[in-house]
Amino acid sequence: METPTAVVQQMKVNLLGMSRKKMEEYLTSIGEKPFRAQQILKWIHHSGVDNFDEMTNLGKPLRAKLQELAEIRPPTVVKQLDSIDGTRKWAVEVGGNNLVETVLIPDGQRGTLCVSSQVGCSLDCSFCATGKQGFMRDLTASEIIGQVWLAIKSYDGFNSGNKRIVTNVVMMGMGEPLLNFDNVVEAMSLMLDDFGYGLSKRRVTLSTSGVVPMLDKLGDISTVSLAISLHAPNDELRNQLVPINKKYPIAVLLEACQRYLDKQEDTHRVVTIEYTLIAGVNDSLDHAKELAEVLRNLPCKINLIPFNPFSLSNYARPSKNAINRFWLALTEAGYVTTVRTPRGDDIDAACGQLAGQVQDRTKRSERHRQRAELEQPIRLV
Ligand code: SAH
Ligand code: SF4
Repeated sequence: METPTAVVQQMKVNLLGMSRKKMEEYLTSIGEKPFRAQQILKWIHHSGVDNFDEMTNLGKPLRAKLQELAEIRPPTVVKQLDSIDGTRKWAVEVGGNNLVETVLIPDGQRGTLCVSSQVGCSLDCSFCATGKQGFMRDLTASEIIGQVWLAIKSYDGFNSGNKRIVTNVVMMGMGEPLLNFDNVVEAMSLMLDDFGYGLSKRRVTLSTSGVVPMLDKLGDISTVSLAISLHAPNDELRNQLVPINKKYPIAVLLEACQRYLDKQEDTHRVVTIEYTLIAGVNDSLDHAKELAEVLRNLPCKINLIPFNPFSLSNYARPSKNAINRFWLALTEAGYVTTVRTPRGDDIDAACGQLAGQVQDRTKRSERHRQRAELEQPIRLV
């Protein structure tokens, strides 16, 4: 049975995910001066403090008031896995037996954190482990920014003064960030804020499979870098791989990308086109040529992601030769093209392998399991 204290605690306001503006509004609403927001934000996001008693530049009465009304509650890490290549993955508990995953990919001076935005995903792309899990719910802003907080904490980055453990954030974990718009925008504003994590707009990237109306809305208020999960050069193929294409086809999506760029002050910005290469599906020379043609008018660079296998999927990663052939065709067509090296695949932390644990409300995971079983080739021994 729940104690009365537990009930009171549940009602406390979590300050972890509040942007500067929200925090100022909150302080005003409890009769405090809004400038205190800057001090509190610094304690939380610069010093990693989750206890009001440690906020020594706040007066005792304010600390006591906050103690009573509010809390700083990061999500709970239930598992941490380290890959032989230095990649670290956390499974984070977000209530109701649900887990989401966060991955840190260290690379020289850089540390890229791959952050989740939803528990599962409703969009059901055919090559994505998260999609196969179905959808449970959106993460709160605290649960999103909490992943950055936890990652830095995990390396003792706050105490050592080394927040540079996370130099880049990519919204490429579980979920479709544009379908959790408000919370993602709130969390990203903390990533960019000097009183938060102070990352430059080039180092915070939102990846989307193409929710066009939300992309337009994002362009009106945000300056973060944009990555588009394209994966196919024509609508017929993209309809199969990325079902949301039936609603917002390639031409419509690419126009929205151009509008996003047009809204940015800085004229040199480009969109990153992500293209997961799947053997025999979208990796032929003709596909590469068609892609080069389709992207002709958009300022972009291309990131090729060799497919990362997971159970329940019948797709395969192309051969090195096929990947090189695709890369070369795009490079020769004048595109800056990179091939993403799979990182952390020994701990299932590579792109598309994040599955966490989702209490699926759509019952899609069950359908997929049954279908995958039916589709299993019969093995002759
Ligand atoms: N929902 C967003 C962000 C999360 S997916 C989006 O779709 O953009 C992050 C990236 O990983 C996307 O480009 C996605 O298409 C890619 N991805 C998904 N499954 C993959 C897999 N099995 N192998 C390689 N890349 C994958
Ligand atoms: Fe969702 Fe992105 Fe996976 Fe598609 S690729 S199912 S949009 S997480």
